[in-house]
Amino acid sequence: MNLLDRGPKKVYYRKQIPLFRLVEKMKLWPSRRGILHGVIACEEKGFYVRVMTHCDREMFIRASKNGRASRWLRNKWFFKVCEECRIPEWKLEKYSSTLFKRRWGSFLINREEPRKP
Ligand SMILES: [Zn+2]
Repeated sequence: MNLLDRGPKKVYYRKQIPLFRLVEKMKLWPSRRGILHGVIACEEKGFYVRVMTHCDREMFIRASKNGRASRWLRNKWFFKVCEECRIPEWKLEKYSSTLFKRRWGSFLINREEPRKP
């Protein structure tokens, strides 16, 4: 596992929550396209996190604390909920009560598609 020999950058892990911990705790995963999946299991693999979702996807994500996924999870961003994953309502509410109230999601979507009638 010589990926681990790259070393000193690890110091930063203390400052922010590592991606793995976030996923492990929330059991939710926002994909690159902004679809929120439910997570069955996740596992640390060196600098990667392996995520298995309820809709039978398996993903390897770079476990960087400043990466897109960590940022999204911390900020509770997503555009859509995966229908196959059937994430329970209470979990979504817990994850995103702020988002639903303040509509941060639509703010994000508008930035990606600057199309407002
Ligand atoms: Zn899914």
